[in-house]
Amino acid sequence: MQLMLPDYHIHTALCRHAEGEVGDYRSAAGTKGLEEICFTDHAPNPDGYDPRHRMRLEQFPLYRDAVAAIRGEEAPRVLFGVEADYYEGCERFLDSWLPVQGFDFVLGSVHFIDGWGFDNPEERHIWDSVDIAATWRKYFEVIMRLVETRLFDAVGHMDLPKKFGHRPPDKDLKEMAQPVLDRMAEVGMGMELNTSGLRKPVGEIYPSPLIVSLARERGIPICFGSDAHSPSDVGADFALALSLAREAGYTDYFRIRQRKKERVPLPRVY
Ligand SMILES: [Zn+2]
Ligand SMILES: [Zn+2]
Repeated sequence: MQLMLPDYHIHTALCRHAEGEVGDYRSAAGTKGLEEICFTDHAPNPDGYDPRHRMRLEQFPLYRDAVAAIRGEEAPRVLFGVEADYYEGCERFLDSWLPVQGFDFVLGSVHFIDGWGFDNPEERHIWDSVDIAATWRKYFEVIMRLVETRLFDAVGHMDLPKKFGHRPPDKDLKEMAQPVLDRMAEVGMGMELNTSGLRKPVGEIYPSPLIVSLARERGIPICFGSDAHSPSDVGADFALALSLAREAGYTDYFRIRQRKKERVPLPRVY
């Protein structure tokens, strides 16, 4: 039987900007033949960080228990994860909170640069008044700090600033991304191939073929995520993500349990 790629990036209605309960996502995954999914709803941040797009800390047990309630032996298997943002000072909460939740997977993301929600459609106009290359440079500096915390298992949507189509020339991008990718390889950090960019103005998987190739050269392990905010998104466009990985020279990807990665061969076709 053909192995299907697991979807390691799924949100739920608890984060206030997604629809569907965990059972709806698991059913959708079953219908599509996925064998494994991981819920990665946005982590609560009791320090007041971006409260509009996440559950409150006191809601977290609802999330934990809902995921636990649908875990079973039969496919699709369900993993328990979280998408946690890196931001200045996040360690004050995450250092002690993340390790004791029993997560299988902690996806690390950056959604803000100096307080600007650069991927938020409501703040898109700000792109018109910033220097694009300088903005990307700052973004990669924040990603570097994310990597250095060693709190996360993989970087989510690594080139998210391209969401609305703003990006530096490849030459500059390469020069900015390389030191971060070097460090990711050194510390064993994974990278997510995230298909949600195909549903956004840029119309492209995160990250771009250039970055996936640079990651491949360094042996950085990859996983796949739809960034589903609706059950119909589960596993979306994974055939294209598989092609992207293969074209960059990847022959394997990682699965994870209790934050331990295991490399498995990529499926041949999808
Ligand atoms: Zn979200
Ligand atoms: Zn995200």
